[in-house]
Amino acid sequence: MGEGRGVGYDPVKLAEGLKGVVCRGLERKYYRFRGGRWYGGIATADCVGCNLRCVFCWGWQVRDNPAKAGFWCTPDEVAGKLAGIARRRGYTQVRISGNEPTLCREHLLAVLDRLEGSGLAFILETNGILIGHDPSYARDLSKYDFVHVRVSLKGASPEEFARLTGARPEAFELQLKALENLLDYGVSAHPAVMLSFSEPSSVERLKERLGEIDPKLVEEFEEEYVFLYPHVVKQLKKAGVWPRVAYNPDSIPQELI
Ligand code: SF4
Repeated sequence: MGEGRGVGYDPVKLAEGLKGVVCRGLERKYYRFRGGRWYGGIATADCVGCNLRCVFCWGWQVRDNPAKAGFWCTPDEVAGKLAGIARRRGYTQVRISGNEPTLCREHLLAVLDRLEGSGLAFILETNGILIGHDPSYARDLSKYDFVHVRVSLKGASPEEFARLTGARPEAFELQLKALENLLDYGVSAHPAVMLSFSEPSSVERLKERLGEIDPKLVEEFEEEYVFLYPHVVKQLKKAGVWPRVAYNPDSIPQELI
């Protein structure tokens, strides 16, 4: 199931260890730059390294080989490539995705510094663990009014989170705390929730909890489902976990794109 997926690992500690592998001064490792149809057209930089071990992860091959995967990029290179793809394709949005963008904090903030004033919107796709752990991360992000954060919750309850990620169940609370910290600092954010494996009752309970943080989080609740790429199917079978709802990559509903 991948390096580091011990039972009940602490994703904050895992992040600390990974920094030495995928962050180097202001540089970070990436493995791909691309354009794409998501969000109606967005330029994407795919980074290397993540502090979770989700069974449905489509980037697990890179995630589990952070030392070997990818190449080093400076903030100038990342911002330049993203802006270049967006300009050539007529996109107004850019993002860092692939694995977990928040691992190298100084690098991420330096990329945002370079994109400031470009007229591009930046979507930060994150599991939220580090933003939930440290409110000052949300404070730092609040300096950039062109940033929107999509916090991707792994399941709808601590139990589902633990089953899907192998991490300690308490860490689910950090994902919710991330949303709270972001809203406290006035950062635009919404939850995207992996529901492929969820019980309807846990989804209801999660919506209640999100509503207690801010009713806006329930209105903007985004449903996420597993896409059955062959390399994802392989991982699910290996883990003995199968989704209640999932989509084939060639028939993804328009509303999920
Ligand atoms: S948080 Fe995202 S990148 Fe990390 S393991 Fe889960 S799905 Fe993969």
